[in-house]
Amino acid sequence: MKHNFGAGPCILPKEVFEEAAKAVLDFNGTGLSILEVSHRSKEFEEVVVETERLVRELLNVPEDYSILFLQGGATQQFAMVPMNLLPENGRAAYLDTGVWATKAAKEAKKVGHVEIVASSSDQNYSYIPKDFQIPADAAYFHYTSNNTIYGTEVFEKPATAVPTVVDMSSDILSRKIDVSEFDLIYAGAQKNMGPAGVTLVIIKNELFGKSGRTFPTIFDYESHAKAGSMYNTPPVFSIYVSMLNLRWLKAKGGVDVIEQENIIKARTLYEEIDRNPFFKGTAAVEDRSRMNITFVMDSPELEAEFLALAKERNLVGIKGHRSVGGFRASVYNALTISSINALVDTMREFEENHK
Ligand code: PMP
Repeated sequence: MKHNFGAGPCILPKEVFEEAAKAVLDFNGTGLSILEVSHRSKEFEEVVVETERLVRELLNVPEDYSILFLQGGATQQFAMVPMNLLPENGRAAYLDTGVWATKAAKEAKKVGHVEIVASSSDQNYSYIPKDFQIPADAAYFHYTSNNTIYGTEVFEKPATAVPTVVDMSSDILSRKIDVSEFDLIYAGAQKNMGPAGVTLVIIKNELFGKSGRTFPTIFDYESHAKAGSMYNTPPVFSIYVSMLNLRWLKAKGGVDVIEQENIIKARTLYEEIDRNPFFKGTAAVEDRSRMNITFVMDSPELEAEFLALAKERNLVGIKGHRSVGGFRASVYNALTISSINALVDTMREFEENHK
């Protein structure tokens, strides 16, 4: 058995893969593959309705928010957010906590005026800036709740009265959130929601048409909401597999239960990183992510050696992103504590071998 620590697309529960595989051959006893059914068929409409209902229930999404299933990844949201929310003469505030946050701001700059309220680029994004001012007249404030590459996470929404937009691609559904604190949440599905190809957007309806701009309909949140995420052909299979994964999460007890598991998983691995003299965490302790755990060793030679041992022990996807180096263990919802234990055992084995 492989232990998949990949950062995304990533592990999903085995049961979900099995059910998805069945539906590729015969979707709900229709005698048709999920890959060949019409997105307008009654059977698929039920899938969209159930997927939306599960998101609403699992995240306790208030009624005055729309839940959309779009394409183009979180990257398309970098552009859609300012097109929809930033007026010609307005400005948007961005918190710069890493590559994805920087890219989001860069796209917004193509649309209008952007102010970077704070950045942790001075220390390779190893911490979350704390003291910064968000202009009270900003059209919105944007931040990334979990920095997939650097292993930092923002657990509390920064205080501001301006509409808040969050990229939750890599920690949505991993912990409890209060959706009503936010005005727009987006997330590429391919971490904790489902396979790549669908992007979740949760938007407060009063934000529709906020920028007053004219732009192509495909980028307009309101058009997608009015069409029930069927403005054009949606990513049928990705939505279907997301539904299966959300059912799995619900059956497990929902976000509260998975959050407790995620806390234990992260704590177990961080404890070993802090104890084992061969490894060191890269993120500021108070900002450590529960989803992406980044750590390094003293030399590239030791790292290559550990990586080889990890491979022998069936640990997959732990090589760090090139901007941080070392290792990154992504410990999303579907990764079990037994996989964490396998990694911890391998770290101990490495220590023993070098005594
Ligand atoms: N934001 C975050 C936090 C991410 O982790 C990623 C991808 N890993 C992206 C945005 C980009 O997402 P996509 O590839 O779906 O466009």
